Amino acid sequence: MQTIHKISGYIATLYLIHYHKNNNLLLLDSGCSCDVKIVKNYIETILQLKIENLKLVCISHAHPDHSGGASYYKKKYGVPIAGNPSLNYWYKGFSGFITYIIDIMLTYLVAKKKKKGFANIYFPRKVELDILLSDNMPLPNFNDWLTLLTPGHTDSDLTFFNKDLSVAYIGDKIISAPPAYFRPYPISKPDEYKKSLQKFIDLKISTFLLAHNGERKIPDKLFSTLINSTPSSPRVHKSDLFRILSGILNPFK
Ligand SMILES: [Zn+2]
Repeated sequence: MQTIHKISGYIATLYLIHYHKNNNLLLLDSGCSCDVKIVKNYIETILQLKIENLKLVCISHAHPDHSGGASYYKKKYGVPIAGNPSLNYWYKGFSGFITYIIDIMLTYLVAKKKKKGFANIYFPRKVELDILLSDNMPLPNFNDWLTLLTPGHTDSDLTFFNKDLSVAYIGDKIISAPPAYFRPYPISKPDEYKKSLQKFIDLKISTFLLAHNGERKIPDKLFSTLINSTPSSPRVHKSDLFRILSGILNPFK
């Protein structure tokens, strides 16, 4: 038996899976670097367990509120980190550095919208991965969770799918702002994004764990609407950032 705990991070909701038989813990997305202490505190005070019970942190994609804490779980507590090997291309090189600065800036903008105070979200651009995840690969020691390659929001997004529970953590593939649902920003590969949403329909997933605004049942019809209305050209910082910052464009449509 396992319980899926939802932890409110600085920006995203983090999902901590507790296996009752051995008290092992699996964390789906690390959150921002400032979320590491929140997760540790949750483990110690709510679950009455130790950080050593956390056996794996899986990363869905490179954004600061998803991968920012990863290096710190590893450095401070020796927790292994799993992710797609392409994860580190997102912030690589000079253009990657610019993307990194802009992504941090956008994270602070979201924090401001959420009326959060300032927090240090600095994180190293490169995540040292201990386990390289590929499509259809079960998570080590948590074999009932399967990795799915579902790119499109970034170049190499992962989804973590539990077939027995018919539950999937889909990171930022869909942004929920009840009662509406939106595409995320950016959409780096529109065609891949559409295929990823189609994969969710094909797998007949009943419950979606979203990084923003929790657990949802999302009807196929909504996915189809998003697939059919996804623009054919990418929405990335180079083409859309100025219009988004100046308020001309809503990033989540
Ligand atoms: Zn994202």
